[in-house]
Amino acid sequence: MTKRSMVYMLVTVVIILMVTFSLWKKMDELSENRPVTTTSSPTDSSLTTSETAATDAESDSTETEVKSLYELVAEYGDLQLVDAHNHDASGFAYYKMQRNWEHSSVDRIVLFGDVSEPSAIKTDEIAWGAYQEAPERFIPFFSGINLLDESGLQTVRDNLEKGYFGIGEIAAASTYSPALAHVAWKTKDPMDGILPDIYKLCAEYKVPVLLHIDPPNGAPVFKLEEALEAYPDTTFIFAHINAHNSPDNVESLLEKHPNLYADFFAGFTAFNPESAYELEDFVPVIKKFPDRFLLSTDSGYGLSGGEEKAIEGMYRLMDALDDRQIAQQVAGGNLEELIRIQPATDTQLEALRNLPDMDRDLTNLTKEEAGKLLSNNKK
Ligand SMILES: [Zn+2]
Repeated sequence: MTKRSMVYMLVTVVIILMVTFSLWKKMDELSENRPVTTTSSPTDSSLTTSETAATDAESDSTETEVKSLYELVAEYGDLQLVDAHNHDASGFAYYKMQRNWEHSSVDRIVLFGDVSEPSAIKTDEIAWGAYQEAPERFIPFFSGINLLDESGLQTVRDNLEKGYFGIGEIAAASTYSPALAHVAWKTKDPMDGILPDIYKLCAEYKVPVLLHIDPPNGAPVFKLEEALEAYPDTTFIFAHINAHNSPDNVESLLEKHPNLYADFFAGFTAFNPESAYELEDFVPVIKKFPDRFLLSTDSGYGLSGGEEKAIEGMYRLMDALDDRQIAQQVAGGNLEELIRIQPATDTQLEALRNLPDMDRDLTNLTKEEAGKLLSNNKK
């Protein structure tokens, strides 16, 4: 071999080695960039997250069992999901959620805003305004009540007459919640202040009251049990009953008190690292009381993915139930029933009678029907 051909050969070998190395590096980079979890941080649309999840499922055989949100919405989106606990009246946050609710098939929203403090009066009005714009989507509740003063009772009566469908969220007891432990109008426990009189009004108007109680055990819960027994005709909803609480506790409360409903913040159990339980742990108690659970997002409180992640949690719970009939009840049917049983109020009937071209028979009209007729008339 000549010296010249030796040089050619060396150069050729070096070039081959360089090309091989750069190809290998490129492939390595590609595999590193591939998403590996289905719970990667959400982008501005929850469906984008689910598309990522779908890609995962195809590319990684070990994750084929995890359904993407996209698949879950396709499977359960026709069940008419209602979010039973939502704070998006605060700061008009509901505006920017509209598209997301459409994409993830959330049909209706129990809407309110701030809780048990003077600023809630304003957010209650915002919730009412949202309902006037879209009565088929929003179910307004209110929370701006001075629970420590008799004057609060007039606020309650006025709002119920006006057409609100429920009271809450109410800070009936709070020791540890960073959001509610120090609000101005919170009560010591569920029998404090004007709460007992509010429970009487709830029974009169057939509206539920949504109570925040933390811690979800000990003295505040004994007081809740006292209220449940003293006001058997009032429907109480225990807000985010699964947060920092055990399935056994939830079961024993529901067992003892037929007028108690459970607001289930699925996103907490599914995604909050503070949860000691998994969704599957609550499935037996939900199946035992399928007509007493309501699904909610709590606007994604405490979740890194926010409300979108909380919506994904609701779908994951529906899937974990593995029973479409029960999923339908929990996802919205039970809440719809609580709204449907409310009769039209005197104030609503009076307003309807005063409409110039009202020819409809108003006997047995529900609050929901009356509210729709009145809001359509304003448009
Ligand atoms: Zn809340």
